[in-house]
Amino acid sequence: MARYTVYADLNCPFSYALHEQLISFGLMDQVDWRLIEHAPDLDMYNSSAESQAELASDVFIVRTLASHIELALPKKRSDSRFASLCVIHAEAIDKTKAANLRHLLYQALWIDGKDISDVSVIFECLVAADLPAEVDIESDEENTLSFWQKSWEKGEYNRRIPVLEAMDGRVSLGLPGTEDLLAFFKGEEISAQALPGESHVQIEQQTIAIYSDHGIESIWPLISSLRTEYNILLPANLNELKTLLKEDPPQLLLLTTEDQWPQMLSLCKEISQHKEDSPLPIALVSHEADDHIELEAYSAGASDFLVLTRSPVILLSRIQILMQLKQSQDLLARSARIDGLTQVNNRREFERSIETEWRRVKRAKRKIALIMLDIDHFKAFNDFYGHLAGDGCLRTIAKAISSSIQRAHDLVCRYGGEEFAIILPDTDLKGAEKLANKMNQAVKELNIEHEKSTTQRIVTISAGVACLSPFHEGSPHDLISQADQALYQAKNAGRDRVISQASE
Ligand code: GH3
Ligand code: MG
Ligand code: MG
Repeated sequence: MARYTVYADLNCPFSYALHEQLISFGLMDQVDWRLIEHAPDLDMYNSSAESQAELASDVFIVRTLASHIELALPKKRSDSRFASLCVIHAEAIDKTKAANLRHLLYQALWIDGKDISDVSVIFECLVAADLPAEVDIESDEENTLSFWQKSWEKGEYNRRIPVLEAMDGRVSLGLPGTEDLLAFFKGEEISAQALPGESHVQIEQQTIAIYSDHGIESIWPLISSLRTEYNILLPANLNELKTLLKEDPPQLLLLTTEDQWPQMLSLCKEISQHKEDSPLPIALVSHEADDHIELEAYSAGASDFLVLTRSPVILLSRIQILMQLKQSQDLLARSARIDGLTQVNNRREFERSIETEWRRVKRAKRKIALIMLDIDHFKAFNDFYGHLAGDGCLRTIAKAISSSIQRAHDLVCRYGGEEFAIILPDTDLKGAEKLANKMNQAVKELNIEHEKSTTQRIVTISAGVACLSPFHEGSPHDLISQADQALYQAKNAGRDRVISQASE
């Protein structure tokens, strides 16, 4: 008997990813996989810009959380009801074949981008699963679906899926990370998963944002040639596009219109005028060749003008070239952000990041913390062991500090000579203090001899910690100044310690 129950939908990419993970770990035989409809009342199967934007964003998040799982953006989110009933019907015939049918349906939608509400697609999957192609749905199947649906709704999961329930009452909501998933199957509790949008995992796949003022139907052939290789985001309106560009800029932006060229060209101009270290390449996508518009596009700052009558392979190649150019620019820009000696972010990057993270955290009404950290008696170290040894020590300490952080959005910077600043978005004072103590310990464990230190006979650090809620109080400058004051107190109190702003 199954020891775990999953509530999932065929048309949910998070559920699909969990399904693939359980199969790859050989855990599926312990699971009773219950198909439900996670949004039966919502009209989310239409091809409105909003539902396409939501679908693209869900796929983007899953690719971010589980990058090893093959997943491509489908044209639309299929209505899964009939396909689910077919799986339930098959379960009464042969459980193994039914599981295979479910797997094939998931793959048809999430890898091949097929519409699994289409009877011919379901037919293909039934045949491939060696099941009878004729399916007569009776009230039994409907009853099972509605029983599962009610059990999921009664569970008060805030309408989230997938839900993974253990017989002993433990529950995992959303798509767990690999380690958490394995821990859950070993009997451990795992904490709630990040809601979509809360994840801070760094993305390696390149992202293309496509903004169209007339839906995506006519540019779907282009999108479908890009969707397996790149993350695709489809902002539903101008506001969404602007937020995306500000908060999480893609590597390429495609702008397309049918007949609103003046507006699209001025949008292109507006975006391309933002001066960044590594500017965002913009390509305009047109349904037909037009030398006049193409010329205007280049003067509006576009990098390319793609005409949809060309073969998709040509378009794909030109997009690949734009992406390669962007990658080398990013690399160059990155080297301008990094401190040559310690290989952590430099002061300039600190100034830039603290402003952008402050704004981001303020919008999300979260907290931001800062650790200011300074090597103790470092002048004496340099004077006694020489500057070369001093440089080596700085490098080693920078590495130890960097290894102490775990979250992708945390940022270690060299603030000045032997002073480091660590920006911790979405972190409270306690969390930051804990991290600062971990860094203090990590440096001590390096056991770097420091004969001239009056504190210890090894190199130590002092740290000041501060935390603010940007939505309610202060400015980045206040945060820096409070952390700095705390550092000053740590020095005065005898060094080799962490002092936080609240524990004066
Ligand atoms: P405290 O415990 O109060 O922090 O004392 P300190 O000696 O560490 O502080 P002070 O500010 O007096 O001296 C900082 C020293 O750090 C000065 C300089 O010798 C050393 N330093 C700063 N930048 C570098 C660098 O890039 N390389 C090397 N080798 N040393 C540096
Ligand atoms: Mg110092
Ligand atoms: Mg100093």
